[in-house]
Amino acid sequence: MDENASPQAYETKRLERVAEFCPPDQEGDEAFEKIVAMTAAYFDAPIALISIVEAQRQWFRAQVGLDTRETSRDLSFCAHTLTENGLFEVLDAAQDPRFKDSELVCGSPYIRYYASAPLRTADGFNLGSLCIIDTHPRPPMSARDGAMLVNFAELAMMRISGVRSRNFVDQPTGLFNRLRFEEDIRITLLNGKKSLVYCVDVIAPQALNDVVKALGCSFAQDLILAIKARLQTLIPSGRLLYKVSPTRFGFILDEHDAIDSVCQKIIDDFKTPVECQHIPIPMQIGVGVLPVLEASQKDQDWLRLVVSAADAARDQNVGWACYEPQLDAAQQRAFMLLSALHDALTRGHQLSLVYQPKVKLPELTCESVEALIRWNHPTLGVISPAEFIPLAEKTALMQSITFWVLDALVEQARAWAAQGVRLRIAMNVTVNDLQDSRFVDAIEAHIQARRLDPQMLELELTESILMSKPVSVLHELERARRLGLHIAIDDFGTGYSNWAYLRKLPAQTVKLDQSLVRTLETSAQDRRLVKTLIELAKGLNYHVVAEGVENNEILRLITEWGCSQAQGFLIARPLEDKALTTWLANGGFKG
Ligand code: C2E
Ligand code: MG
Ligand code: MG
Repeated sequence: MDENASPQAYETKRLERVAEFCPPDQEGDEAFEKIVAMTAAYFDAPIALISIVEAQRQWFRAQVGLDTRETSRDLSFCAHTLTENGLFEVLDAAQDPRFKDSELVCGSPYIRYYASAPLRTADGFNLGSLCIIDTHPRPPMSARDGAMLVNFAELAMMRISGVRSRNFVDQPTGLFNRLRFEEDIRITLLNGKKSLVYCVDVIAPQALNDVVKALGCSFAQDLILAIKARLQTLIPSGRLLYKVSPTRFGFILDEHDAIDSVCQKIIDDFKTPVECQHIPIPMQIGVGVLPVLEASQKDQDWLRLVVSAADAARDQNVGWACYEPQLDAAQQRAFMLLSALHDALTRGHQLSLVYQPKVKLPELTCESVEALIRWNHPTLGVISPAEFIPLAEKTALMQSITFWVLDALVEQARAWAAQGVRLRIAMNVTVNDLQDSRFVDAIEAHIQARRLDPQMLELELTESILMSKPVSVLHELERARRLGLHIAIDDFGTGYSNWAYLRKLPAQTVKLDQSLVRTLETSAQDRRLVKTLIELAKGLNYHVVAEGVENNEILRLITEWGCSQAQGFLIARPLEDKALTTWLANGGFKG
């Protein structure tokens, strides 16, 4: 501590240390209990306490002879010792003008004698003290006893520091952890230094999980150690490496260190797989960089920000990325939508279904529709499924959406059946819906309980998430197929679709992605591609549906090439149920 610092500055820093070293919600600790018991016995004192002095109160880390766990700071004797650097004694509190009127002296526990030694950090801040209290006055302590009390206090302080540093270490790697990382960023800022915070995301959590499954936990552990060793050679010398999450490391550099050369060195090096027990494991690196420049950033959630930059770098395959506020805005919107979605699913009439007709070619009759979800939020307005479905897919909310859609769609099917409207309804599902049996179980239950004709249901499977359990997905699709449902592969021609994979799925239909169909008129390349895709799919006996049919020329081309159905704005936009029945009653699409 700077000798010249004002009492106020000292107290501010002291309180920071208290928060750091002695967070209030710590569990009981036998070592502290033993220290107070030993102190009370040695000094033959009825009361001994390890007192931590916060802004408004003192609380006891351990105590002997006192029931209460805390008192207000005003009453605290220990609060008078916060700048002491050794023994502090009050021989008779009843005679001492500072304490004689205190309710702890006039009333229980009737303090008369008080002696304490500080719990002092290495950088000179007293967190509180170890003290003994007697209900009778005492003569001054001998020098030997005084030294003994100071020794006991030092012992307590060693334990406090030990617990703190244990909380700061990632045991498997021996590196400092996230808490220490954040702590060090805070200290850098408090010292008025500008710095750059780096986060290296070495491998996608799912990939690490796969390594654990295939090669075991201890291999994964060794792999992380090998990654750590490699990273340590890549960051500027003399800098600490931190382990901030299971797959992420961090470090802090000065503002003037050249970001791109630091990042590029790491990215280039990790192009070579990390060798562990002679097995090379490829890495997927994303480095995030966050400038921490001003004290006003003191309370920011640095780790979240720098991690989002690292994630963005990996997702966009750009190696490294500096944190950008827009990134955070996107994340906050995602968070807001996901929290609002939970509400939308559980109450209110925010969600609804619209239905987009598909017409048979070449007759142009409408026998089926696709159900598409709509979300009208009371304050955010209309939110597109193209925005919220991909977000929900990353969470368990997707399952709730799927079940909500299924229930709504079954209700609609019954209503139409009662009105004599015969339409097959397609619903969109993702591979996640088919990872276990619950979804197809629910369909089966609806079919049995409501005498629903399974022929009137179709599943459009999108493949936006790589299949992690292809066997169960196949099994569930086959079950749905056996129940009598139609199965279509959605968004075909984009993503990961390939023929070998397609052949394994029990689907009768492929839906050409609208992005290919919409551009048919303008792009000769898309024309060749779509024509070939249609020929190949037909060769394998699939029905081919073209979506994104926006004009007559496209309709003419896909009809000529042999598509079985067309869907798109030319035919009809997605319609609410009543608008759809009106559209049908008016003769549907007439070409
Ligand atoms: P999708 O399943 O490929 O649905 C077709 C999307 O293309 C719909 O967008 C539809 O409105 C739009 N569309 C149809 N014809 C045309 C056209 O001619 N031109 C253009 N530009 N667009 C056309 P929407 O309703 O915004 O849905 C977007 C995506 O969200 C859907 O793509 C689907 O993947 C997903 N989605 C919608 N509802 C659900 C749902 O209930 N469950 C799941 N899992 N996904 C859904
Ligand atoms: Mg679809
Ligand atoms: Mg589609």
